[in-house]
Amino acid sequence: MKTKNTNHGSNNHNTKIRNRALVFRLICTGENVSRIGIARQTGLSKMSISNIVAELIRDGFVREQKESPSKLKKPSTGRTPVVLVPDCETYAVIGLYISRDYAVSILSNLKCEILSEVKCNFTIEETNSTFLNKITGITREILSTKRAAGKKILGIGVSCIGPLDNKKGIILQPPNFFHLSSIPIGQWLEKKFGYPVIVDNDMNASALAEKLYGKGRNISNFVYVGVTNGIGSGIITNDTLYAGEMGFSGEIGHISINYEGPKCDCGNTGCLELYSSIPEIVKQAKISLEQGINSALKEYDFVQWGDIVRCAMEKDMLALNIIDRLCMYISIGIVSMINLFDPSVIFLGHDIAIAGRIVTEKMESYIKERTISRKYKEVPVQISAFKDKAPIVGSAALVLNQLFLGDGFEEGH
Ligand SMILES: [Zn+2]
Repeated sequence: MKTKNTNHGSNNHNTKIRNRALVFRLICTGENVSRIGIARQTGLSKMSISNIVAELIRDGFVREQKESPSKLKKPSTGRTPVVLVPDCETYAVIGLYISRDYAVSILSNLKCEILSEVKCNFTIEETNSTFLNKITGITREILSTKRAAGKKILGIGVSCIGPLDNKKGIILQPPNFFHLSSIPIGQWLEKKFGYPVIVDNDMNASALAEKLYGKGRNISNFVYVGVTNGIGSGIITNDTLYAGEMGFSGEIGHISINYEGPKCDCGNTGCLELYSSIPEIVKQAKISLEQGINSALKEYDFVQWGDIVRCAMEKDMLALNIIDRLCMYISIGIVSMINLFDPSVIFLGHDIAIAGRIVTEKMESYIKERTISRKYKEVPVQISAFKDKAPIVGSAALVLNQLFLGDGFEEGH
């Protein structure tokens, strides 16, 4: 991600690009957007907005909606304002989500909606080159789908497990990832496909999707917490993703909750992730079943997270107890994040999202008792707008966010 240099001045050219990008963002991420509405929101003159919108229409980024939505109230005087929408026929974005077990490539429109999706699984024998070939394969496949035909691709976003060098686009050495290391995925994809590539960790990508297109659109400070094979977070402060120095921020899974606990790969002891990742929860369920605890989970040959959630919804005591313990542990990590960043909301995504209110209600009650600010405000826990698909949607959001920062509008467009 690009870092902001506070010493950077702004000349007319930069201001023009920034304003254009801002108007484009409001049209892509808003609903019932009109020229007059943008002028009100941005404080820019009606004349400037008209000029920018004319340019965006000329370049195929935006179009006027023919049919006016019935939701839009007709003003008592004058005409109904024309609604502006992104031109989803001309441009599209490619996204790649790389998890520990599988990868997904998507084609997304400018509203961050998934148009098509291709998945591949990893096997235990992956090497750097088999891995890169699989990624190339699913990217090629998505580009050859009907929905991609004739569309101009604005870039490829890679939402990926860490650690990463996100500036150079290199996957460093993720734990439990076939001993792969130093994979130059950014450069590789750029060379193969010729589009700009943005690489970031899947938690940051998910937080960006929530901020631009999800429930966080009007929230300046929030934390997205993703629970899957590991636990991580993406932090939005003052409407901006907190990127840190090298992209290692938000590692909530490596907050120690027991300094005498087991040693973690990261070097610390008793990390949250060691007690409450999804595989750890599944393991706990299996141990309980082996101990003879009665539960509907006995019906399943290979218990998975989805089975635990299903049984908990049917009030199975073992499943409920396991999820309760998961929520208790994760809440300890979230309380630390709340005390550090003072967010308005916590959004939960990745695999944990399928549990819905079972987890949000429990977490809220744990958090309520333990934060410094508890007497003054409550921090709600909500499921991400994109649920367990947040990191997939996030891959496209990485490219769109770059456009909204002004990149891609400099030359040619
Ligand atoms: Zn750790």
